[in-house]
Amino acid sequence: MKREPAKFKVNGGIHPAYNKQLTAEKAIIEMPVPSLLRVSMLQHLGAPAKVEVAKGDTVSRGQLIGEHGGFISVRVHAPTSGTVKAIAEAPTATGGSAIAVDIEPDGEDRWVEDITPHPDWESLEGKKLISLVSDAGIAGMGGAGFPTHVKLSPPPGKVIDTLIINGAECEPYLTADHRLMVERAEDIWNGIRIIRKILGCATVRVAIEDNKPDAIAAMEAVMAEDTGDSAVVILKTEYPQGAEKQQIFAALGKEVPSGGLPMDVGALVENVGTTLAIFEAVVKGLPLTERVTTVTGFPVKAPGNILARLGTSYADLLAFCEGLQGKAAKVVSGGPMMGFAQHSLDATTTKTTSGLLFLRPDQVRTFSSMPCISCGRCVQACPMYLMPAELSQMIEAEDIEAAEELNVLDCIECGCCAFECPAHRPLVQHMKQAKAGIMAKRREEKAKQKS
Ligand code: SF4
Ligand code: SF4
Repeated sequence: MKREPAKFKVNGGIHPAYNKQLTAEKAIIEMPVPSLLRVSMLQHLGAPAKVEVAKGDTVSRGQLIGEHGGFISVRVHAPTSGTVKAIAEAPTATGGSAIAVDIEPDGEDRWVEDITPHPDWESLEGKKLISLVSDAGIAGMGGAGFPTHVKLSPPPGKVIDTLIINGAECEPYLTADHRLMVERAEDIWNGIRIIRKILGCATVRVAIEDNKPDAIAAMEAVMAEDTGDSAVVILKTEYPQGAEKQQIFAALGKEVPSGGLPMDVGALVENVGTTLAIFEAVVKGLPLTERVTTVTGFPVKAPGNILARLGTSYADLLAFCEGLQGKAAKVVSGGPMMGFAQHSLDATTTKTTSGLLFLRPDQVRTFSSMPCISCGRCVQACPMYLMPAELSQMIEAEDIEAAEELNVLDCIECGCCAFECPAHRPLVQHMKQAKAGIMAKRREEKAKQKS
């Protein structure tokens, strides 16, 4: 094990007020099980899980309640024992809706009986380890929610030689991953060893921003005895260092091609929370039924890093953090840069709920339709070498084809351009609109070809 500086500085990037001091020193606290858990069947990218229980059923913690709904899908398990009270469409934090299973806890928090730990995991084959990850219902916990078992199964011919563990947590305010590295470093390291065995890759880089010296020290301590090619890479604190392509460039100096995937340069990136979930699934045999969410913002009375069951309502999370001490003008699920604005506290936590953020009125930026003043700040800030000003104007003129030619699909929706824009133009919304339009058109064309 060694320590490495970042190889390269990522293009663009910004330095917003990080405000991590609100929770960075706060140890993870386990929240008691609330009086109702609303467990969404869409906690991941891809097809929703198919409900496997009926109203009135009694369930145990860890019992399968949602089966894979397709190849790109993830299983869902009961987060506690109790009774299924309802199965109905419910709002999701991303602004849509999905089928959810309401569980009324019975207070026993009884685990399902067929839990099989594998302390002997080193003797298992990669395929078996992947099936354990799949069974446990793990999706990328950094926010993207891509099914982990699919990510760990590259297609034939693709070789992964480097595993990057993403401990950057570059989004302002969020500290859940930071606390996991400080408090669960050894288990995260064992999760890394499991992934290393699955992929058969020799090289491991744990990438952490330099504003988390205690996390760096904790990871270095547990990796000290490793005789393989492993290192903690110290990244400069800058948003968006945690984005996959940017992290690969910073840590390895390799550029993922436009439209390509990390595996195209032999890399795979896993978030620290996901890595811990892999440890829990394989070594302890536990399905994913809880996660750490940073509940934060200046209006919150007792902000913290809360270990809560999946399906906990945002209202219950806030109540556990003693509510508000001032006016909150905006609520965001996730971080302020890439999170989703909430109109109520009705949504419930999922495998991707990294944060719940409350912003004061003076912290909320309103967008305008003022014209671009051609200052170029958005271009300088864009980590993907895009031209947000031009793209935005094309999209306003509904010229989606031109936006596609200018690689709008490469936009990672990081929000750096909008953060810098003095005209407060809704640049990210424009990029999202164009990307959605292009994808819808591609789906239509595919359907036409089939018929
Ligand atoms: S949101 Fe898209 S266009 Fe804007 S800075 Fe990020 S990658 Fe560039
Ligand atoms: S930052 Fe805003 S005003 Fe400046 S060039 Fe970009 S879109 Fe135009």
